Amino acid sequence: VVLRNDTEQLLARARSYIGRGWSPATSGNYSVRTAADACAVTASGSDKAALTPADLLALTLDGNYDRSNAKRPSAETELHLMLYRRDPAIGAVLHTHSPAGTVLSRVHRGDSLELSDYELLKAFSGVDTHAVTVTVPILANDQDVARLARAADDALAAAGERCYGFLIRGHGLYAWGATISDAARHVDAFEYLLRCELESMRYRR
Ligand SMILES: [Zn+2]
Repeated sequence: VVLRNDTEQLLARARSYIGRGWSPATSGNYSVRTAADACAVTASGSDKAALTPADLLALTLDGNYDRSNAKRPSAETELHLMLYRRDPAIGAVLHTHSPAGTVLSRVHRGDSLELSDYELLKAFSGVDTHAVTVTVPILANDQDVARLARAADDALAAAGERCYGFLIRGHGLYAWGATISDAARHVDAFEYLLRCELESMRYRR
């Protein structure tokens, strides 16, 4: 059990995603960095509508945790650990399974989505103009999560600095930020932008 003064903020965000349709059927997982080399991740199969601090499990970034606890960390924990290891500035990671991200990742051709010329790009940390391109890598889904995490690590290295999230095809969105608030704002921005992209496809020839 991890108690930080912003733990409740993370849990409140996670619970709010259910009502928005972004986390159906106990899916989705959420984490926060607790130290330079440690984080806390939601437990596998936890009811996201009734998350409490007891559902957050402490892990070191190399994957060690208290195995005497009846709860197990999320099956996708390796993706969270990879993000914290690759960037010390990441303080929180949020993973949703929303229809917009899921559908767009299935119908968009290519292995990344380029978002540009949207005013809302300014919601991303460090962006102060619509005249930028934010790259969203799209990865093939893989039930071997360690292999998926290695593929995501490679895709993020190729995507460069202006990257705040990636999509897994037919699966969902991973987004992150320096704080829980930043990560949550990025999720909100992505959801809006992905819906705009989906809607725009209807008008393209
Ligand atoms: Zn997932």
